[in-house]
Amino acid sequence: MNLPARSPLMPLEDALAALLCHLPERPATETVATFDADGRVLAEDLVSGLQVPPQDNSSMDGYAVCSADITAPGVVLPVSQRIPAGHAGSPLQPGTCARIFTGAPMPPGADAVVMQEDTRAVGGDIHAVHIDVVPPPGQWVRRSGEDVMQGAVVLQRGHRLDPASLGLAASLGRAELQVAARPRVALFSTGDELVMPGEVAPQDMKPGAIYNSNRFFLRSLLHRMGCEVSDLGIVPDRREATMDALRSAAVRHDLILTSGGVSVGEEDHIKPSVQALGRLDLWQIAMKPGKPFAYGQVRRDAGAGAAADQACHFIGLPGNPVSSFVTFLLLVRPFLLRLQGRDADACSLPAAQRLTAHFDLPRADKRREFLRVRRNPQGGLDLFPNQSSGVLTSAVWGDGLVDNPSGTTIARGDTVSFIAFADLLA
Ligand code: AMP
Ligand code: MG
Repeated sequence: MNLPARSPLMPLEDALAALLCHLPERPATETVATFDADGRVLAEDLVSGLQVPPQDNSSMDGYAVCSADITAPGVVLPVSQRIPAGHAGSPLQPGTCARIFTGAPMPPGADAVVMQEDTRAVGGDIHAVHIDVVPPPGQWVRRSGEDVMQGAVVLQRGHRLDPASLGLAASLGRAELQVAARPRVALFSTGDELVMPGEVAPQDMKPGAIYNSNRFFLRSLLHRMGCEVSDLGIVPDRREATMDALRSAAVRHDLILTSGGVSVGEEDHIKPSVQALGRLDLWQIAMKPGKPFAYGQVRRDAGAGAAADQACHFIGLPGNPVSSFVTFLLLVRPFLLRLQGRDADACSLPAAQRLTAHFDLPRADKRREFLRVRRNPQGGLDLFPNQSSGVLTSAVWGDGLVDNPSGTTIARGDTVSFIAFADLLA
C-alpha cells in the first residue's frame, strides 16, 4: 500500500493567518466597573462628553492676575478674593489679584498666574502683594480641554486597558466600560504518564511517570491573557475519555486547549476524537520546537444549554513542554488577543530586536528555529546549551527567543533577530 504523500509543513505566518480567520470581527462584550477593567480590552470607542480640564485653572499656588495690569516688576496689587481648589471665584476686580491655589478655576478677567515664590506680602499684610515679575498672558494657566476636548475619541475599541487608561476613562466620568468578554477556555492535559505534583511524591513515582508541567504554565499563561479557565485536569490516553472530555467542554467554552496527543501515534487520541465531534485542521508547522499543532472545532450539539449553531474552537498543543510553551506564545496568544478584539498589529509577532550572537549554531535546521537565548551584560546573546523541546529549563534560563530562518547557521558575531519573552507575555 502506498502511504499518502506527506503534506508540506505550514509556515508559521500562514498558520497564524488561518487561525485568526476563524474569529469574528467583533468580540462578545460585557460591561464592567472601571475599577475592575485593568487588562481588559475596550469594546467601544471612548468618546469624551466633556472638556478635561473643564475650565481654565491654575497650575500653581499663587495669584491670578490680569497680565495687562503688570507692566514692570514691583507692582503692588490688593488681594480681592481667595479661590481654593473646588470653588469658583467671582470676576476679578480691575487692578486687583486673587489668591489662587493649584487646580482652582481662573476667575473671569484673569489671564495669568504669578507663582507664590515670585511675590512678597506687603509689610506682613496678606491683603496686598508685591509682584516681582512681569507675567506673560497664559502663564501657569491650564487651558480647558488641553487634556481632552469634548467629542474626542480618547481610546479606541480594541485598546487594552492599563492603569493609566483607567485613570483617563475616570477623568471622563466613566464608572463603567464596555469590554470584550473574557474568553472561556477549557484546558486539559493528555498522557497516561502524567501525575500531579502533590499527589505522588518524587520517591514514589512509578517507572515512566512524569509530573504534569504543561498544566501549570498553560493555566497561568491563560490567566495572564485574561481568560476564564476551566481546568479539566488530565485526560487519560483513551478514545472514550477523550471524546467525553471534548464533548462536555465544548458546551460552555469558546476554546478547548489541550496539550499532548496531537501527533499521529496510536496513543494520540485527540486527532480522531476531534474529527468525530467536529472538524480538525491538523497543521504540522514549519517551526522548531512546535511542529505538531492542531486547530479544529468541536460541535456544540452534545449537551443541554449548548448554542447549537456554533462550534467551540479547539487548539491542540504539542506535549513536549518547550514546544507547548513556544506555540502558546506564538499562536495561542494572538488567537486569544483577536478573540478579545485586539487589532492586527497586536496579533502579529512582536518586532524583533537585532542583536549580536555570542554563540555558534553550526548545524542549520530545515525548520525555522526559535532558540532559547539570554541577553548578556555585553549586550549580546548567549544560547542555552540544550535546545531539546523537552528541556523546560531553557525557557526559564532564557529571556527570549532567537527567530532563526530555516537552513541558517549562526556564527559568533552574526546579527540575529531576538524576541523578548517580556514582549510575548505583555
Ligand atoms: P505527546 O505529544 O503526547 O506525544 O508528548 C510528547 C512528549 O511530551 C512526551 O515525552 C510526553 O511525556 C511529554 N508530555 C506530554 N504532556 C506533558 C505534560 N503535560 N507535562 C510534561 N510533559 C508532557
Ligand atoms: Mg502523549
